[in-house]
Amino acid sequence: MPTYTHRCPVCGEFDQVRPMSAAGSAAACPDCGAAAPRVFGAPSLRGLDPGVRRALDASARSADAPEVVASVPGTNRRATPVTRDPRHARLPRP
Ligand SMILES: [Zn+2]
Repeated sequence: MPTYTHRCPVCGEFDQVRPMSAAGSAAACPDCGAAAPRVFGAPSLRGLDPGVRRALDASARSADAPEVVASVPGTNRRATPVTRDPRHARLPRP
């Protein structure tokens, strides 16, 4: 079951493990019993694979300031190889 954060109007925020079917309803505060609506925060990323976390961090960084390209793509590519086979001359051309 996932952990949801709720905010009691009197006592403040608290975390509670609840079934997903009860995610939309307010939870009872463990201290005073008042109805505490759910608080939507950042997802918990503690359990992620380090590679996935790096990719998510890079994606978040580039959302506001995309990385600048230092060179024109394709300048380092090798030229298309030219064939010397005479049979290739008879192939249809695009
Ligand atoms: Zn409370």
